[in-house]
Amino acid sequence: MRNLLIVCLLVAGLLTALAPSVVALARDHPRKWMIVGVNVLLGPLGFLVALSLLIAFPVTETAVEESEPQLCTACGASYRVSDYRPDAVRILCSRCGAELIRGLP
Ligand SMILES: [Zn+2]
Repeated sequence: MRNLLIVCLLVAGLLTALAPSVVALARDHPRKWMIVGVNVLLGPLGFLVALSLLIAFPVTETAVEESEPQLCTACGASYRVSDYRPDAVRILCSRCGAELIRGLP
């Protein structure tokens, strides 16, 4: 009886400790693998870091609204910011490779 209680507490503790990973995976968070890695590898500290990451980078809706077409300043090719991944640090022109301006969100 006492052992069963200990097992239940351990399982509950483990589920709580891994909650940020579970939430990140379930909601397809953009940094889910970073959150899972930190959460699993760093123990209690990782729990706090993973929780912070989860809160700091909110999940963006998958339905991206189409943005107005813009022109590449180098070659004049038309592009839409919505065609590029929102988490990409730099976006490049598909025709000439120049860095594109994201403009206002
Ligand atoms: Zn270009």
